[in-house]
Amino acid sequence: MAAEAMTVNVINPATEETIATLESAGVEETDAAVERARAAFPAWRAVAPGDRVRLLRRLATLVEEHHEELAQIESRNAGKPINGARGEIGMVADVFHFYAGAIDKRYGDTIPVAGGVDMTFREPLGVVGLIVPWNFPLNIASWKLGPALACGNTIVLKPAELTPLSALRLAELVLEAGIPEGVVNVLVGKGSVVGQRLVEHPHVAKIGFTGSTEVGRSVMQGAAGTIKRVTLELGGKSANVVFADADLERAAAVAPYAVFDNAGQDCCARSRILVERSAYDRFAELLIDATSKVRVGDPSDERTEMGPLISAQHRETVASFVDGEPLFTGEVQAGKGYWYPCTLVEASNEDRIARDEVFGPVAALIPFDDEADAVRIANDTPYGLSGSIWTQNGARALRVARALETGVLSVNSNSSVRVTTPFGGFKQSGFGRELGLYGLDGYSEVKNVFYSTEG
Ligand code: NAD
Repeated sequence: MAAEAMTVNVINPATEETIATLESAGVEETDAAVERARAAFPAWRAVAPGDRVRLLRRLATLVEEHHEELAQIESRNAGKPINGARGEIGMVADVFHFYAGAIDKRYGDTIPVAGGVDMTFREPLGVVGLIVPWNFPLNIASWKLGPALACGNTIVLKPAELTPLSALRLAELVLEAGIPEGVVNVLVGKGSVVGQRLVEHPHVAKIGFTGSTEVGRSVMQGAAGTIKRVTLELGGKSANVVFADADLERAAAVAPYAVFDNAGQDCCARSRILVERSAYDRFAELLIDATSKVRVGDPSDERTEMGPLISAQHRETVASFVDGEPLFTGEVQAGKGYWYPCTLVEASNEDRIARDEVFGPVAALIPFDDEADAVRIANDTPYGLSGSIWTQNGARALRVARALETGVLSVNSNSSVRVTTPFGGFKQSGFGRELGLYGLDGYSEVKNVFYSTEG
């Protein structure tokens, strides 16, 4: 056992109970996992497309068959309301189905050239390291695993230390599906040890990373040593832009769920709610009313809409953002668990609450004067992941959508993520796209072959 090795206590954030104690991998175990993935690569890339389709479909079907079990694991480990966890596991199965279906439908090009035939191939990269956060543990892992497997790569997956349980269960289902040993390796361990070793390892071809912008920066730096490919899905500070001509009732009724879903621990959280000044007071009133109705409590209760934060330490960080008197503070239960109430504050875009990612159930309400002011404020952030525009003026919706420096937008909706559509950030929210057919680009390399027809 390597010197860094120790145990990880996995906690249920709603009860503070230890639900598992696991051994934490060190550098030696990481190197061994990379070697297993490397040994498995030649045979995996050689699997005929039709057979790879069948294997990935079988995995998707096994996830469906174990849907409730996986949802319960995720709910207990991350403190998520069970209904949300069920939705996430449903998406995991859909992601594997989607990429199974894509395997034999991705073609190369033939390009007109003189003296022969020119063709392109999409080659797998080899061993890829996947590093994921704790907020949507299996869901985000699947966004990377699906395209990585579809393209013929082998994998070392490092879940967050706080939430490793669903990835460990998935690793068992991978084998049950008939995907060979060594193709998917899951390592429980610290980011600074296992994660960093994957980033620097000479035999890891690519890092698919989701996490904070700060760690993403160090992943990018570490990857430079071996010119490793990286895709980075990082933090966000997304704007929900509400114009006075919007259906204010509807915009206000759903706005709380765009921030407080997953207790605000969502990279797409619309945590800056920008409201046109002439509608500000009315909207604030409607928003307070809607926020007061968010059902916070026991994640295992089917009616619960918001659970606790992930850890005591994270709760302290979230609390540090709220000073002064909030516009609204919701209720939370007393006793065990890392609870934090839904909180609305009034702010200017210069305030810390509007600049930094809180990653908790705190939303900042910010007024704007007109369309140009809305675009200016929305773009005045280092981040650019997601956002919403609420208006009944179609031309304005499109103008603003084109002007916002952000990767994933919705008009008169707060949705960001679909299996079939590209997801990823502008600016310091990262680069590369996941999901949809775009997701495949990050897990293959284009090769060009010229075949002479002369002589
Ligand atoms: P984090 O950056 O602390 O950790 C993410 C992962 O990186 C974990 O597995 C961690 O162990 C690992 N890690 C930590 N240090 C490392 C290092 N030096 N080298 C390699 N890996 C290392 O993030 P978190 O707290 O787990 O998650 C919250 C963050 O993730 C938020 O900023 C959120 O916005 C972001 N996020 C982004 C997206 C997106 O798609 N853009 C989605 C979800 C979460």
